[in-house]
Amino acid sequence: MTKRKRNLDVSLARHEAKCGICAHPHREEIERAFVDWTSPTKIARAYKLSRDSIYRHAWAIGLLQKRQKNVRSALEKIIERAGEVKVNAAAVVSAVQAYAKINAQGQWIDRSETVNLSKLFDRMTRDELEAYARDGTLPRWFPVQSQQEGKQDAP
Ligand SMILES: [Zn+2]
Repeated sequence: MTKRKRNLDVSLARHEAKCGICAHPHREEIERAFVDWTSPTKIARAYKLSRDSIYRHAWAIGLLQKRQKNVRSALEKIIERAGEVKVNAAAVVSAVQAYAKINAQGQWIDRSETVNLSKLFDRMTRDELEAYARDGTLPRWFPVQSQQEGKQDAP
């Protein structure tokens, strides 16, 4: 285990030579699942791999960093699951709040174009946030209504 940086190409080639995922017919699906925060245990079971081999592969080709940037996907999972199993309400609320502040690159935006939206989320009560997490219902006072609602009666 020496000169890891200088021998990056060599070690990648060595990795590929003995990695069951690099040569796997479903490699793309496996990688997508990993980046989407599917549990590696689940992936391992579905594709008959070992959890270790998934992590080894992910580490070797830089999937861990990719997954880290994909925070929104993890938050979506928490919010989605709120309807199925008992998730701590506070966890759902903070997931919704965080989701509203994270852009597609996984960066936290607090002061740019979403600042008004996040302020509005802060103003929502716990019940309102839970309703939003459950089925996307926004409170009536919320100025950013969905387009499908159509025009309001103008004076
Ligand atoms: Zn591999």
